[in-house]
Amino acid sequence: MTSKEKIQRLAAWSIAVAFGVMGLKYLAYHLTGSVALYSDALESVVNVIAAAAAFWAIRVSHKPADQDHPYGHHKAEYFSAVLEGVLIVLAALLILREVWFAWQEPRALEQPWLGLAINGAAAAVNAGWAQLLIRNGRRHRYPALLADGQHIMTDVITSVGVIIGLVGAVLTGWTILDPALAVIVALNILWQGWHVIGSSLQGLMDVAVDHEETLRIRDVISANSKGAIEVHDLKTRIAGRAVFIEFHLVVEAEMSVGDSHVICDRIEEALKAEIPSVRVTIHVEPDDEAKLPKGTTAVPFA
Ligand code: ZN
Ligand code: ZN
Repeated sequence: MTSKEKIQRLAAWSIAVAFGVMGLKYLAYHLTGSVALYSDALESVVNVIAAAAAFWAIRVSHKPADQDHPYGHHKAEYFSAVLEGVLIVLAALLILREVWFAWQEPRALEQPWLGLAINGAAAAVNAGWAQLLIRNGRRHRYPALLADGQHIMTDVITSVGVIIGLVGAVLTGWTILDPALAVIVALNILWQGWHVIGSSLQGLMDVAVDHEETLRIRDVISANSKGAIEVHDLKTRIAGRAVFIEFHLVVEAEMSVGDSHVICDRIEEALKAEIPSVRVTIHVEPDDEAKLPKGTTAVPFA
């Protein structure tokens, strides 16, 4: 199975898992009548929508480049991630609303232990699934999958907070504990949602690769540009899992086009070996375009 098929399968299963978890959480709410568990179940509806959005985005981002989108469709994933961030924030606000009602009229729960056990089981399924999504999203550079996993992780935190609150409420009889803990959980979700939106907006704004990766790219270029004089104006940008790299390569003015192309191909191959999803554009220039004084042996960066 290729990584592409694996990712699409993960995204499809994500929808099924979200449905299952939603069912369990509603059952837990139904058994207890707890407002906090109701909020938790409500949040899992968002998850189903988000998983479907991520599935769509990953399919679109896999479409090959076409005439209308010659650079590919990678950024579709950021739309899904932004949508997901917005939904997370919305869920937090809905939970705060429920908290407000529970605060006004606190009440004791029916069948609390069974309900909590079912909610706990749903949280455990979510935790395992979220870790799988986060790991694969990071490894294969899929923002939509990563955002989905991070979102599900916030669900797990929600559930744990709710369970702790309800256990405390049942044991002490302090019904107010339940909405109090739910507030903290909602604020945490709010913060996570903001983070998901922020990192996806960075991608839409053509954010560069991080500092460490920039240094790695410079090393690869330096090691493979024998025959050239200088490299300058290195620029990178990330679009989904694709990394775009461009720079100027200064060579002797008398060098043939064929010879300079050999250097370009060598650098391109080396960069592809380091970053499989890379797209490289190299602008070749004669030596009077050099920014550094002549006579350095290793190819320096200006
Ligand atoms: Zn230049
Ligand atoms: Zn070429």
